[in-house]
Amino acid sequence: MNIILFGPPGAGKGTQAKILEQEYGLKQLSTGDMLRAQIAEGTELGVKAKTVMDAGNLVSDDIVIGMIRSYVASDVCLSGAIFDGFPRTVSQAEALDDMLSECGKSIDLVIELQVDDHDLIERIKGRAKKEGRADDTVDAFKVRLEAYREYSAAVLPYYKAQNLHVSVDGGQPIDAVSAQLRAILKK
Ligand code: AMP
Repeated sequence: MNIILFGPPGAGKGTQAKILEQEYGLKQLSTGDMLRAQIAEGTELGVKAKTVMDAGNLVSDDIVIGMIRSYVASDVCLSGAIFDGFPRTVSQAEALDDMLSECGKSIDLVIELQVDDHDLIERIKGRAKKEGRADDTVDAFKVRLEAYREYSAAVLPYYKAQNLHVSVDGGQPIDAVSAQLRAILKK
């Protein structure tokens, strides 16, 4: 099974992906986590990506597609994955479809976590205190939310056209969201 968790920054994609990863044996693939790992290691890619990420903008398609590609043969094609924060552009979505089709797989479901802007800002402020992410400032958050509005308006129709899209109220407590996700995955 291959699932995409879609939603604005702070919607709880990472939290829910980790819960589903344990329960369903799917690999969580977060391009944001992969990029942050590159920054922490001080790689050339990480240095390049940091400026873009800190400002809240999107890293280039080539970079994120390349990172996901390295997990396709080992995880995605073998046991399935939960994509968290990828794809964010139609080019990324098309590249993902191509990669999956190489091993006879496809995306089974795209779950959109919907959360009010006001609640998102509060969550981001809380996460900034806890995790200290450089892009969790209110200014960078606004750019990220704006970017999300733009790319979701392009990417969601791509999946809606394939009848793969469902939405969940991500403003609920963590357990309630997980329960809804389980109910959807049972079907
Ligand atoms: P996230 O942890 O998913 O919120 O991602 C943090 C930042 O990493 C984003 O604001 C982007 O700068 C970058 N990023 C993560 N995933 C992608 C992606 N699929 N395409 C482009 N940029 C990405």
